[in-house]
Parts: sequence; structure tokens; C-alpha cells
Amino acid sequence: MSEQAWPDPDGVSRATEAFRAAFDAAPEQVWASPGRVNLVGEHTDYNGGLALPIALPHRTFAAIAPRSDRTVRLVSGLDDGHRWEGTLDDIRPGGVSDWVAYCAGPAWALREDGVELSGFDLALASCVPTGAGLSSSAAVECAVALALTSLAGESTDDDAARARLAALCVRAENEVAGAPTGGMDQATSLRAKAGHALLLDCRDDSVEHVALDLEAAGLALLVVDTRVHHSLADGQYGRRRTTCETAAARLGVTQLGDLDSIDTENGRQTALARLDGEEARRARHVLTEIARVREVVDAARAQDWTRMGTAMDASHESLRVDYEVSCVELDVAVEAARAAGALGARMTGGGFGGSAIALVPLDLTEQVAGAVTAAARERGLREPAFHVAVPSASGERVA
Ligand code: ADP
Ligand code: MG
Repeated sequence: MSEQAWPDPDGVSRATEAFRAAFDAAPEQVWASPGRVNLVGEHTDYNGGLALPIALPHRTFAAIAPRSDRTVRLVSGLDDGHRWEGTLDDIRPGGVSDWVAYCAGPAWALREDGVELSGFDLALASCVPTGAGLSSSAAVECAVALALTSLAGESTDDDAARARLAALCVRAENEVAGAPTGGMDQATSLRAKAGHALLLDCRDDSVEHVALDLEAAGLALLVVDTRVHHSLADGQYGRRRTTCETAAARLGVTQLGDLDSIDTENGRQTALARLDGEEARRARHVLTEIARVREVVDAARAQDWTRMGTAMDASHESLRVDYEVSCVELDVAVEAARAAGALGARMTGGGFGGSAIALVPLDLTEQVAGAVTAAARERGLREPAFHVAVPSASGERVA
């Protein structure tokens, strides 16, 4: 039923094989970094709020070897084995596009930050589904950033080094790939811990690891990949960001997340009451979503799974009604999962397609997946794919 993540030895041999086939040599190192799924705290990262993602067992593997010149050669499983070749100087905003921008962008960001790089050969192999809202983009960037940092002889061990790399990967995705990503994905790929969710405070970039052993609780986090992406909605993410910035400016704060420090519910309501229409709804989502992150953290600590499910349901409603980023495929999946016994379900990621998650009793996993598939079929929607999300480790060297 579920699409399996590759065990590390498989990923290593696939990336190594791809490297050999493309460059007729062996790589010097192989690094792997994961995709992520967000438990709760959606569209809060770029608003300076809280998010609670977990790293997936699905990883992108990057096999790399340094070169003595400034040439860069890249292959990725995505592009029919097509090989890109250029120089370090070609890698800059406007200099590369598509998958090459995601693979090579971190080299530009690292150099901008003063890291000395030589040319390199790089081959990628990935089992992170692309465009499913599970952050294949950050998995690529982070695997490459770790590998390049290591080749440059700098440490990637401590959390401060990881936080810096995450910020550089965000810069690469924003400026080289031209995608306005918020920062949660890269933080998860580089700073998460196995068996834990990552409580990320985007105001000061601090993290806390929250123990989350769903299996011991007899539960599974089922990921439903709707396998649709409504491309008509491509400008929507940027538009949501702009509306939030405008609303924050109107209220005299830097980011909407700053309103979270108003310590009474009444005070927050008074602030929100100064906004109208769309701005008011977007801001209400951001503030209530930040509160739901705290609720889910408390529920995880108390092992109160019903409470966690209820907060997940409320998050979906807020994203659907106030933030308006859901779509029929996500709504159908969420409703069918709940009706079949999920404790809670919500869309996850940016929205307009991509994935939903459902918190389900282990013995109902197949049943819930079957019900979601049946509901999609009945509505004439694309058949979804399923994964089980086990909180996994952040990026690391695997060979
Ligand atoms: P998501 O991160 O949710 O999967 P995005 O639209 O943010 O979706 O990123 C998808 C893009 O990331 C792909 O279109 C591709 O350009 C790049 N990408 C993802 N995986 C790989 C890979 N294995 N090799 C090269 N580029 C990749
Ligand atoms: Mg992405």
C-alpha cells in the first residue's frame, strides 16, 4: 500500500551507480538528506510563527567528488540522465534553471557566504516524491549543501552549523531557483532528530525536539499524496505572503507572528479587529495556527492523541476557510480519512494539491487508505499514493 523509503545502502548504491555511469569514476563521499511532512503549523514559517514538522525516512542521496578545476558536472534521476556541465561562475541567480537550479543553488549560496569551493562532480538519486508537498526540493538542496560543506573541510556537525546551512539553502531556493520558500523545509531536513518532531520557532530560528513515538501508541501518520498540483495556483503562495506582509504593516508589526506575543486572547482579537476581509482571515489563520502548534506539542507530551487529532482537524478547517489553500482532492481525502476512523486529518504543505496527513490507529491504516482511494474514485479524482511517515533523522554522511 505505501511507497517505501530506500534503506541507506540502496540509496548509496543508486547514487554511486549514477555517478559511475555519468563520470566513469567513483564518488568520494555520499550524503543523504530527507524530505519532510508537517504535523501542524502551516504557512506560519514566513510569518515568524511556529511549525512542527517531522523528517521523513525518504531521502535524497548525493554522491560527490571534488575537481581540481572550476568545472561543475551534475546528473539527477529527474532528467532522463541528462548531464549538466558548467562552471562555478555559471551558478548564480539567472544563470541556471529547473532542476539544475535546485541542485547547484547551494554552491552559489555557500560561496556568497565565504566558503571556498572547487569544481565538483555530483550525482543524485532520490526516493522523495517530487511536487507532492513533501519537500523534495529541500532534500536536494540540503544533501548538496552538506556534501559541499564537507568537501570544503568545514564541519556540519553542530546545530549552529546546520542552522546556517538551512538559511543558505533557503537563500539558494529563493534567489537561484526563484521559489519563495519559507524555511521550515530546510530546517527539518538539516535539524530534525529521529523519533521526534521538530518544534521550530521561525522568529528566532530556535528549535526544540519533541518526542513522538506514534508506533508505541498504536498509531501511524498516514500521508496521502493526492498526485495533483493545481498549477493555476502557482502565484498563490507569493500572494499569501504579500497579504500577510501588508496585514502586518497595517498593524505596525514586522511579521504577523509578532502578534502572538500579545498575552491575552482579548488583546489578539482587538488587534485582528483592525483588519478587514481577506487580510483579517489570513491573519486569523496565522494566529490560530500558531496556537494549534502549541496544542499539538502539549498533546504529544501528554500522549493525548484525541486532542492531537482535534487540533489537526481544526488546522484543516482554518486552511480551507481562512487561508483558502485547500482544494477538492485534499478535502475529499481528509473527510474520507476521518470517516474511516482517523483521529484527525489535515492538508499539509503549501496546498492546492500535494499531500494530506491522517493520524490513524495502526490496525485501521489499510482501511483508511482504502476509504480514501474509494472516495477519490467516486468523485472522479486521481487515485492517491500513500506513505507512512515515521519521524526520521536529518541529513548525514552515509558513505
Ligand atoms: P516539493 O519540494 O514539494 O517536492 P517543489 O516544487 O518545491 O516541490 O520542488 C520540486 C522541484 O525540485 C523539482 O521540480 C525539481 O526541479 C527539484 N528536484 C526535486 N527532486 C530533485 C532531484 N532528485 N534532482 C533534481 N532536482 C530535484
Ligand atoms: Mg519544495
